[in-house]
This record gives sequence, C-alpha cells and structure tokens, in this order.
Amino acid sequence: MYQNTASLSRVVQESVELSDAHCHLNLFENPEAALKESIAGGLRVILATGGSALDNAQVGELARRSEIVFGIVGISPDFAQSDAYAIDSLEEMVKKNDKIIGIGEIGLDFKVAKSEKDLFEQMAAFERQIEIAGALGLPVVIHSRGSLSEVIETLDKHKVKRAMFHFFEGDRFQAKEIEKRGWLISVPPVENKNRKEAIREINVKNIVVETDSPVVGKTPLDVKRSLEMISRIKGTGVAQLAKVTTENLREFFYI
Ligand SMILES: [Zn+2]
Repeated sequence: MYQNTASLSRVVQESVELSDAHCHLNLFENPEAALKESIAGGLRVILATGGSALDNAQVGELARRSEIVFGIVGISPDFAQSDAYAIDSLEEMVKKNDKIIGIGEIGLDFKVAKSEKDLFEQMAAFERQIEIAGALGLPVVIHSRGSLSEVIETLDKHKVKRAMFHFFEGDRFQAKEIEKRGWLISVPPVENKNRKEAIREINVKNIVVETDSPVVGKTPLDVKRSLEMISRIKGTGVAQLAKVTTENLREFFYI
C-alpha cells in the first residue's frame, strides 16, 4: 500500500489524469475549495452528480464553471416522491447545458422504500428517466441498494446501451452480466469481499473509480484509495490504472 501511494504521488507530479466518476461536489461546504484541492492533487475529470431538484440545479452550475467538472442530473430513489415533478424539466436542463452528460443517479433503493406504494413510485420515476436518457442519447448513472437484479432487469427491458453502476454493490456474477453488456461498474473507496471478487472477475476496461464524496470519501482525491484496492487485486500499477479508468470514463461519456 505504501509503495502504491509513493508511486502514485510521483506519477501525479508527472500529471497523470485521475478521475472521480461519482461525487456530490455541490454538497461540500466549499465546492470551489474542494475543486481547487482536487485539481492540485491530479484530478482531471469529475462527474458531479445530482439527485434532487436542488442538487441538479447546483450541479449544472458547477459544471458550467469548471472545465473538468461534468454534470449528471436526475431524480434519485430518495426523491422519487418529493421531487417527481422535476423529472419533466430534466430534458430542458440538459439541452441548455452541454456540460451535463448523463442522467443520474437514478434507480431503485429497497432500503428507502417503506411500502408497495414507495416501490411503485421509485420504479415509475426510474423508468421515466431511462426513457428521457434514451431520447437524449445519454447514459444513465445507477443507484441501487438491495435491488441490483431488479435494476438490471429494468435496464434490459428498456434496452439501455450505456449504464454506469455507481457504488457497485453486486457480486462477481452480476459484475460479469454488466461486463457482457458493455456497462461500467464504479468502485468506491470501500472494500468488501463481494466487491473484491467482482473486480477480480471483470476486465479493467469495464471499471471506473469514484469517491461518492463528501458522503463516503472525504474528497475526490480519495479515488486513490479505490485505485489502490484495484491495484492489489489486479496486480497492475496504480498509475496505469489511473490512466485506464480515466480513459474508460472519457470513452463512455464521450468527454
Ligand atoms: Zn452518490
């Protein structure tokens, strides 16, 4: 681990590109300061992700203001009821801001749903947004909790071509299903057995790294911790993995 960190800081000085496939930049106490620190540390691409009407508006603004920040907007399962009204304005939002490059985080959260009605509304919001993403030709960024099989089934039903699984929660079999479809799993800086097996199972071309900061990671620079985990599993150097995961992200989102 020490070796990896040491070689990474050398590489960052040589300006290798780090990327954070999923964070909530607008939720930092001072997003501008967090961004500045991230750039100084080697971040070259940040996908700032929304989830509520308010978050989406803030994410759109942050993306406009910084070259390296791209916006993902959508109504997450947490806000599927309170903010369902805002789904109607997503399309216009995207059309007015060319830095918005995906719809998310959207999906199903079986821990948030307390009743059949909640589940029904989550599914309705999810499917409407899959359709909007399809009409706009944009990828979807997935939030799943306890619901990955149902999410994959729903994406298949709508023949979704591009999906990135934020904070991938699945096992190695589900990872393989995702790889088969040409989708991406996004690896947070949190280790567990399933996640390690999933990383071992699939091609590095189907992997990107994220922090989910400030909710999980402290800053976007914590992608280094995700990269170190992958490096230990794949036996590939952190610098090389930083390069590949950033390329994967750029190719997938056309940025
Ligand atoms: Zn998130």
